[in-house]
Amino acid sequence: MQNQTQTAPCPNCGQSNATPVRYTWWGGALGPRMLSHVKCQNCNTQYNGKTGKSNTQGIIIYSVVLFAISFCVCGGLAAVNVILQNQ
Ligand SMILES: [Zn+2]
Repeated sequence: MQNQTQTAPCPNCGQSNATPVRYTWWGGALGPRMLSHVKCQNCNTQYNGKTGKSNTQGIIIYSVVLFAISFCVCGGLAAVNVILQNQ
């Protein structure tokens, strides 16, 4: 029974005692899971536990995609509203 997944060493200090981040301001509870977001216990650096690199690019992409999706959903709802009101 191995519950803990192997994480890549910290890009800042080289330690590999990072723990998964459960919640972030940018991704809620889902974002950090998708990006394998972990936090180093030694220096508090947050990075991608799979690649051992910074997650900044992933966070930007995630935010843009999330924004696009919510924009589409809002736009869709607005369109439905207009259609319903025109009937
Ligand atoms: Zn570190």
